[in-house]
Formats: sequence, C-alpha cells, structure tokens
Amino acid sequence: MAWRSSGTSNTELVENLWRNKLITQPLVKAAFLGVDRAHYAPSAPYDDSPQPIGHQATISAPHMHAHAVETLLPFLLPSDSSATSADSHAKGAKEAQVIGHPGRPRRVLDIGSGSGYLTHVLAELVGETGVVVGLEHIPALKELGEKNMAKSPEGRHLLDSGRVRFRVGDGRKGWSEPSPTGSAGQQPGVGGPADTGESVEEEGGWDAIHVGAAAVELHEELVRQLRSPGRMFIPVEDEGGWEQYIWTVDKDEKGEIRKERLYGVRYVPLTDAPK
Ligand code: SAH
Repeated sequence: MAWRSSGTSNTELVENLWRNKLITQPLVKAAFLGVDRAHYAPSAPYDDSPQPIGHQATISAPHMHAHAVETLLPFLLPSDSSATSADSHAKGAKEAQVIGHPGRPRRVLDIGSGSGYLTHVLAELVGETGVVVGLEHIPALKELGEKNMAKSPEGRHLLDSGRVRFRVGDGRKGWSEPSPTGSAGQQPGVGGPADTGESVEEEGGWDAIHVGAAAVELHEELVRQLRSPGRMFIPVEDEGGWEQYIWTVDKDEKGEIRKERLYGVRYVPLTDAPK
C-alpha cells in the first residue's frame, strides 16, 4: 500500500496519499501541502518510505505521518474558530471534529521530533495561538529540526514567533513548557483523575502528544501530562519486544483514561540518549 503513494513532487505525494485514503480530511491535506518534505528528508523526499537522517534516526514514512495527524486532528484544531486565519481552515474546521475547551490555545508535544517535519505539519493545524514543542534527546537532531524548518519563510516565522520550539530532553518524561501566557517554569496542568475541575483551566499540559519512537511501555508521566481532554499517539513494543503497535491514549473531560491498540508498526526505539 505504502509505495503506491510515492510521487515526484510534494503535491503529487500528498495527492496520492489522498487518493489512497491515507489522508481523508481536507485540513490534513492542506497542512501536508503546506510543508515541503524536501526540506526535511535528505534523499527521495517524495517516496512514501522512511529515510535515514543520521544518528540512527529516520524521518518516518509519509503514510505514518498522515495517520498520526489524522488520529490527533480533533485535539489539534483550534477550539475557537476565530483563532484561525486561513479561510480554508475555517471551512474545513466546520466539517472536522474538534475536542477541547473553547478558546484555550492548543499545546502539542512531538516527542522524537527528528527531522522536524511532523512538528511543522502539526504547527500548520493548531492555529495562530497554538504552540508545538518538538522534543529530542540528541542535541544535533534538535538543531537539525530547527535548521530544516528555517528553510522556508513559513517555517522561519513559526520559529521566530515561538509557536514552534525545539527542546532537548528525555521524551519518556514528557516536557514542561510555559504556555504563551504562562510564566516560565510553570508546571503542566495535568487534569488527571484526582484533579478537580479547576485544574483543566490551567495553561499547562498537552492537548496532543505524538511519540515518534517506540516506547517499552505507555509511560505514566506522559499520560499524566495529557490535558482533559487530550490524546496521545504512541508506538509501544509488546512484551516480548518482537512487535510494536500504535496505541492511542485518550483522557476525557473527567480525567478517565481509555487505551486502544491499533495496528503493528516499525519505529526506532525510544531510548536513553547516546553517551
Ligand atoms: N518524527 C521524527 C521521527 C524521528 S525517529 C521524524 O519523522 O523525523 C525517532 C526519534 O526519536 C529520533 O530522532 C531519536 O533521536 C528520538 N528519540 C529516541 N529516544 C528518545 C527519547 N528518550 N527522548 C527524546 N527523543 C528520543
């Protein structure tokens, strides 16, 4: 299935993903059209396959990026349509499902940001008020993400405005990042089961967490940092370590958690940083 979506240009690749129903939502298509994969993949950027980016990391295949974004979409779109600027955004948002507190700026964490490609696509969807943090444990890859994003004027604008930030840290611990209106060093408002209704109004936590490397478990700390409501997309190794599956973890308004195993995949592992 995957190879059938390869193209000779970014537009052709995205059109093929659309034709093969790997992208089904107009807003997702627009976001993928808005980011040239050639700025992020060092070779064969329009092939629907993963490519090495150094440091034993790979930029994931376009169909995996597509599925991740489609899965997270209700938690990415601004929950206040006035926060969007592009007309197509407002139109597509009418058709798309949006889950979140009205008017609360989106906060999205992309763990194992690698090339920075998906971080950029996610930023295309969260609107003017949203923030996307790309987290890497290898400093050179954090810099690669920044460098790749700076290749386009739109990417430079995202970096300069602070709407996209690349950080160095261990993704298994998640990340605490002050929101645009928050003060530095603020802890995430986590809205877990023990939280009261008040905590969901705090500015921390994440509406969506994408994990781009295979974890050995559904790290509790990541679940804790999800907002209520919020969703995580994460590849996890099964017990024998032989296979990996995509899981989604949803936290609802009340802080209740629902975990779902979707399908088998092959990702590089979420590990300790190399010495
Ligand atoms: N989403 C990226 C995927 C890169 S591959 C892309 O499509 O370009 C997975 C990435 O996870 C690698 O860059 C690797 O350095 C990073 N990674 C692995 N373990 C990590 C950890 N514990 N914390 C943060 N990043 C990690």
